[in-house]
Amino acid sequence: MSTDPRLDRLAETAIRVGLGLAPGQELVMTAPVEALPLARLITEHAYKAGASLVTTLLSDDVSALARYKYGREESFDTASGWLFEGMAAAFRNNAARLAIVGDDPALLAGQNVEHVARANRARSRAYRPALELISSSAINWTIVAAATPAWARAVFPELPQEAAVAALWDAIFKASRVEGEDPVAAWAAHNAALATRRSMLNAKRFAALHFRGPGTDLKVGLADGHAWMGGSSQARNGITCNPNIPTEEVFTTPHMLRTEGHVVASKPLAYQGTVIRDIRVRFEEGRIVEAHASTGQEVLSRMIGTDEGARRLGEVALVPHANPIGQTGILFLNTLFDENAASHIALGQAYAQCFEDENLPEDELTRRGANRSLIHVDWMIGGAQTDLDGIRADGVAEPLMRAGAWVE
Ligand code: ZN
Ligand code: ZN
Repeated sequence: MSTDPRLDRLAETAIRVGLGLAPGQELVMTAPVEALPLARLITEHAYKAGASLVTTLLSDDVSALARYKYGREESFDTASGWLFEGMAAAFRNNAARLAIVGDDPALLAGQNVEHVARANRARSRAYRPALELISSSAINWTIVAAATPAWARAVFPELPQEAAVAALWDAIFKASRVEGEDPVAAWAAHNAALATRRSMLNAKRFAALHFRGPGTDLKVGLADGHAWMGGSSQARNGITCNPNIPTEEVFTTPHMLRTEGHVVASKPLAYQGTVIRDIRVRFEEGRIVEAHASTGQEVLSRMIGTDEGARRLGEVALVPHANPIGQTGILFLNTLFDENAASHIALGQAYAQCFEDENLPEDELTRRGANRSLIHVDWMIGGAQTDLDGIRADGVAEPLMRAGAWVE
């Protein structure tokens, strides 16, 4: 793969578009071992852009599994707090953050669900200070993807290993808009289109959104003083970045007490090693009061049982059905891609920057309806049959999407 020019363009896009890395900035990168060729090219482009130091932390699925096979009982409440404290310290010192993802969606499927949940909770707690700096956009950060063999196998089970990896790389390059000679220009055009959509929604100041489709009738109340985001954004350190490569969404913060009705997921959700299928939930006063899934029900129940905020919404995002990721027709079993194939909602932590006023204190965010949780899990609710209205403060409905397409 190292000779494919698209891999180099993806690395360049990660540094110049995803991070907008500034000269003199440190970079903290995490990557699966299988993504080392991409990590090395990203490191090259980081130093070319003037990075002061690139530190890469590699993860390995086989080692992760060994913990669940052989770890002692008390192992599952342990997290490397020292590492996350160090990452938080780096971010406070203005280091940029880049994650290469390529997780095996079914890695932990056969493991003890309680052990997995406890380990995730311990990790989430330890990671929280660092995550807050990322989710509040204190620094520029981005996520890009690499086609690992295990992920490719899960996405294309019918193909031989090598062909599956090649097919997944093709899809990643297409979705990440690095097929052409000048990906930086392609991203500038895409960011401009998302900015137009964002401005339209911000000008409307809707009180709520109303989704209708097969099995879905959901009213999502929006947070007071919410703002729509999407595409490139400016981090609080003044650097413009694209936090997700790829991205197709415009998104904002719902009010944690104002979601009513029922909704079905339009795609399966790959959550920490388990694929949860056919999610159906019902909300009352912003809180999930019923949750079902045809597979992964126990994982779903544990996920929404993480804390009080895990039962409430922290994000609502709009994606037209016709877009480069949806059009691949591929179920990626990875949120970075699948969430950009369709409109979605996320349970858990809200994004503090999705407000008209910047740097709101925690208690004011809560007053405006921003949810708090250890988790933030996106799942897809939009499809080719989804209609969407914006509900104004006076109760009048305006059509926003019909059959999954923006009403122009
Ligand atoms: Zn989203
Ligand atoms: Zn999200």
